[in-house]
Amino acid sequence: MKKDYKILIVDDDAEARSLYVEIFKSEGFEVTEAVDGIDGMDKATASIPDVIFTGIIMPRMDGFGLKEALAKNVATSNIPVVMSSHMGREEDRKKAMEVGVRDFFVVGMITPREVVSRILDLFSAEKYRLYISTKGDVSRLVRDLRLKGDFSCVVCGDELALDLKITNIEKWEFTGKIICPRCEAK
Ligand SMILES: [Zn+2]
Repeated sequence: MKKDYKILIVDDDAEARSLYVEIFKSEGFEVTEAVDGIDGMDKATASIPDVIFTGIIMPRMDGFGLKEALAKNVATSNIPVVMSSHMGREEDRKKAMEVGVRDFFVVGMITPREVVSRILDLFSAEKYRLYISTKGDVSRLVRDLRLKGDFSCVVCGDELALDLKITNIEKWEFTGKIICPRCEAK
């Protein structure tokens, strides 16, 4: 089952923005647009996207200002931010990495399709599938989630798994979802 990722595209250049809007939509993303950092912050708070793709130089608030504002808000602090640079300055790349930007693209050095696949990598790279032993609080979890006692799928009987997605790598924080790998693969 393919999840529809939500992406927020922040760029003051309408032409560049609409190019990416079309590409991400065609790849099945749910797309929101913003024209600068302030607008981006508003939209991020309203829609809580899975990823934010922002330019750097913009009126009112630039990409770095946006990253800083996102980090200060609990609701948005864990949303991965990816930056695209028109200038390709090394100092921007360094700064981006220092403030925790997850990927950095230089316009013209990478095709829009490659941008999409790098952003998709971001999701798969941080997803882990674990199988749970019956130790610890598993029996309580089984009861509270109304699962079968042997931790098997009610539909197909296969062993269930826990999918983890890292939300903050430094603090070892993640979100988890119990899934049936066999039913999900259908
Ligand atoms: Zn199943």
